This record gives sequence, C-alpha cells and structure tokens, in this order.
Amino acid sequence: MKQEKVLVSACLLGIRTRYDGSASVSQKVLKLCKTKCCIPVCPEQLAGFSTPRPPMEFRGGDAECVLKGCGKIVRVESGEDVTLKMLKGAKEALKLLEITGGVAFAILKERSPSCGVNKVYVDGEIVDGTGIFAYLLKKEGVKVYSEEELS
Ligand code: SF4
Repeated sequence: MKQEKVLVSACLLGIRTRYDGSASVSQKVLKLCKTKCCIPVCPEQLAGFSTPRPPMEFRGGDAECVLKGCGKIVRVESGEDVTLKMLKGAKEALKLLEITGGVAFAILKERSPSCGVNKVYVDGEIVDGTGIFAYLLKKEGVKVYSEEELS
C-alpha cells in the first residue's frame, strides 16, 4: 500500500538541527512515521546557517507581518537582520513539494521562527503567529500542524 508523504521538521525526528545543536525528538512524531513516509526538512540549514547558530526571533510581527514589510527576523543577541536569509531557506524547503510530488500534510516544530505553526517569539514574547516556512506552506495549500497538536 502506498504510504502518505508527510513533511516533518527534522529536529522532531531526533536530528540535531536546532540552533543550539540539539534535537526536539517527539515520540508522537516518531510513531506517526512508522505508518507514513516522513520527509525531514530543516529550512534554517537550507538557508545556509551553521548548526549550532545564534537564536533568532521576529521583531514587529510574525511571518505574515514580515511578508507585508512590517516585521523582520533578527538574531536575538546582536539584532542582525536575517530576514532575507530565512526567506531563502523557507523557499528552498518549499521545493520539496515539487520534488516529492506533494505531501498529505506537514508536522512542524512549534515556536520556531521558521517552523512555528500557532506560536512564535515576537520581541521576546511567545505570541499567536506563524513561522516563515509554515506560513509559505499554508499559502501553498498544505495542511500544517505542530507536533503539539498530534494526539
Ligand atoms: S528550522 Fe525547523 S527543522 Fe530546523 S531546527 Fe528549527 S524547528 Fe527544527
């Protein structure tokens, strides 16, 4: 039987792609991937950032705001603007939709500036919002869930 393809934040599968060089392994995601064809992706590595790398967050608003020009993504400590690089990584990651012939849905890591689905850090606070990759995926019509929404 043909398995559904699912795009998954690489760190949820135990791959150490996070900014601090760690993973965020999710047992629920690992269980899901026993019955689905899971495709790992890390938009920030595809952007060309090193791992580990300095943490990043939104300023002014989430991905929607960034794409409207009223927000940006910066390195938390230095304030360096990394918006264009983050966008590049998200667009690279989006190419997986074409390469794979499409996915049934995506499971992404909550609160990340790239992968956050319902919550992200804006100006140092966790607020309702979407990461840049999750936002672009939704715009492509992909159903996107966070690992915290898995039952
Ligand atoms: S960009 Fe996404 S996949 Fe990569 S480490 Fe951050 S949350 Fe995980």
